[in-house]
Amino acid sequence: MNDIHAILRRHWGYDSFRPLQEDIIRSVLSGCDTLGLMPTGGGKSIVFQVAGLALDTLTLVISPLVSLMKDQVDNLKRHRIKAVYFHSGMSAAESRVAWERLVNDRARFLYIAPERLKSERFQAELRQLKPGLIVVDEAHCISQWGYDFRPSFMNIRDLRRILPTAPVLALTATATPAVAADIRRQLDFRPGNNTFQMSFSRHNISYLVRRAPVKLDEVARILQLTEGSAIVYVRNRKRTRELADHLDSLGIPATYYHAGLTFDIKEERQNAWKSGAIRVMVATNAFGMGIDKPDVRLVIHYDMPPSLEEYYQEAGRAGRDGLPSFAVLLYTPRDKATMRRRLTMEFPDKKDILKVYERVCNFLNIAVSEGYGKINEFDIDKFTHTFDMQPELVMPALRILGQAGYMQYVDERENASRVLILITREELYNIQGISDDADRVLASLLRIYPGLFTDYQFINEARVARELQLDGERVYAAMLELGRMKIVSYVPRSRTPFIYLPTSREEPRYVQIGRNVYEERFKVQQQRVESMISYASDDDSCRVERMLRYFGEPSPSPCGQCDICRALKARANRPTDVDLASRVLDYLRARPRGVRYDVLLAAMGSSVTPQVSRLVATMLQEGVASMDGPYLQLIATD
Ligand code: ADP
Ligand code: MG
Repeated sequence: MNDIHAILRRHWGYDSFRPLQEDIIRSVLSGCDTLGLMPTGGGKSIVFQVAGLALDTLTLVISPLVSLMKDQVDNLKRHRIKAVYFHSGMSAAESRVAWERLVNDRARFLYIAPERLKSERFQAELRQLKPGLIVVDEAHCISQWGYDFRPSFMNIRDLRRILPTAPVLALTATATPAVAADIRRQLDFRPGNNTFQMSFSRHNISYLVRRAPVKLDEVARILQLTEGSAIVYVRNRKRTRELADHLDSLGIPATYYHAGLTFDIKEERQNAWKSGAIRVMVATNAFGMGIDKPDVRLVIHYDMPPSLEEYYQEAGRAGRDGLPSFAVLLYTPRDKATMRRRLTMEFPDKKDILKVYERVCNFLNIAVSEGYGKINEFDIDKFTHTFDMQPELVMPALRILGQAGYMQYVDERENASRVLILITREELYNIQGISDDADRVLASLLRIYPGLFTDYQFINEARVARELQLDGERVYAAMLELGRMKIVSYVPRSRTPFIYLPTSREEPRYVQIGRNVYEERFKVQQQRVESMISYASDDDSCRVERMLRYFGEPSPSPCGQCDICRALKARANRPTDVDLASRVLDYLRARPRGVRYDVLLAAMGSSVTPQVSRLVATMLQEGVASMDGPYLQLIATD
């Protein structure tokens, strides 16, 4: 076993671990199943990467999203650590290359999506590869009580039988105590396991709730009063655009982002915002995962997310650099009803869910007792159009059908195109018989993307087109030509989401939407929504304290900088009426010939103006003072 400090220094150049990182690493290295709860940005990746490197074996990492895997694998490569990943959108050629790097190059980390664990062939490979550590990233996805339950995570449990000696390291940034307990249970944690929880408080973020009947004006006002990079979260794709346009028209540079945009546009806007060229990103919750911009000063929620877990995650994208930042939630009492209505829409009637199941199978031409394990491209717009159904019904129905284990809808449109060069550099100079376009496209690829000879790289055809001032269609044709000539292996990005059937199509009477995916989940989600509502609407305790208690921190204390704590402080600093009365009296006594009323107000300070004016009214009423034009004077009493 290697020295973990030396590993940290050698690969990352860091001198020391952060609190708990070392404890977690030592716990898994001593063979104990371990759960690590650390906030976003706390340094979870380094924890399992150092632990994996300290072992002389392969480390298996299970992660829910292709984009997260890609980020991490790229990152490891930058630190000269060999890593590969598999996902369902890969071509056969890509898989072959990945296997080669895994086996021949002895990669240290293997990232997979949990779906892959079902494949018996893969299970057999795992027995051969003998990973010495199993890492479950975003481990809350395994819990039905977590806010982001993914049924495919249930497959992880079987790993323990396939790899009986490897300890499990589960990591997450959001888990209530119930979810943490569920993670340990679902992963079959063995006796002697450990849980480490880092504090979730983020001292540099001030959490504020703003009552705002007209949110549009409030967003603009806040942005005008502040500086620095900002994200505004809304729940609706159309509104991202409206709001961005509105801000832009007020001279606040803004753009928008949601899952329905093309890969190229998303990338372009993300970069413009990241570089600071555009100050405000107005986005749905599709924006943010894996985006690591340190100097976000402000995260505004125009609409409430359905849980504190999500709120904490999204708000936590502010201030990763540790400098003072704000998380502002805009709230109007109407939001309560909206939130509750949204929740009921997430749970359509069971008979409607069944209808969606039947229609999807028909749409995909899958007969009863067929379709097992098949991946079917699925154009959801065409589907809803064909059957004249509302996406607001179809999406939740697909989610529930997924959780019930009947069909899995996968929509990872962010899959970019990939390219690997299949010939050597020498051969490259002697290519003959390719078109002019193909020649130029190839040259441009080599210029823009280093490393095309060694592994598949993500490419952006639009960028190549721009660079060459060629039509996008011609670039695409050139790519296909290079592919046909076996000069490159080209995997065009997949635009269509797909549906995967974990079981054959059932007859309707056998389709069971169980309590665990419907009634019980509804109840849990309802509790979440209510916790979120009380965060926004109850003004009797510190926002942060409430949030930390929700995440199970033993004894959180008031943060001193949320709107509740600020109001409390202001009230404490405000003089009592008695103090103020004696100050006013002293002031008037010292000026027996009277003083202008506005001068008195200014002398007492603007924060107490209402109190002073009330006091003066009483003095006039009781004949203690008199008013002559704008002049106020004490009435002599002796
Ligand atoms: P998480 O996955 O918990 O959100 P990451 O693993 O992405 O967090 O880490 C967040 C940032 O903190 C990264 O830039 C990482 O390099 C940095 N980091 C992690 N551990 C340390 C450490 N011990 N010293 C300095 N920087 C660290
Ligand atoms: Mg992470």
